[in-house]
Amino acid sequence: MSVKANKPPIVNTRCVVHLFQCDLCDANYVGYTARHLHQRISEHRFLAIGKHLETQHGNNRTQVDHLFKVLKKCNSKFDCLVYEMLYIKDIKPSLNTQGDSIRAKLFT
Ligand SMILES: [Zn+2]
Repeated sequence: MSVKANKPPIVNTRCVVHLFQCDLCDANYVGYTARHLHQRISEHRFLAIGKHLETQHGNNRTQVDHLFKVLKKCNSKFDCLVYEMLYIKDIKPSLNTQGDSIRAKLFT
């Protein structure tokens, strides 16, 4: 086993509520992850955000990390869910409403 010197502290990989802001239009997205942020970003590429960049801008960028901003670092998953909800209510991100919610998928 090799020693990884610059492994990030656990605190940084906890729960993060993040905001995606498109740099080509006003589209944005609020989400949270209990895992490492970058993992989640690569998932997003194929979901709401990737779809947005592709369909709205014909853009197939692989580097979208810089479009993400951390809104809130939380200490628990519960905090994350609460803050995600509050930020969505406050910011009303356009990409969150377009078929991203599980509820919307269940009832359509
Ligand atoms: Zn856009």
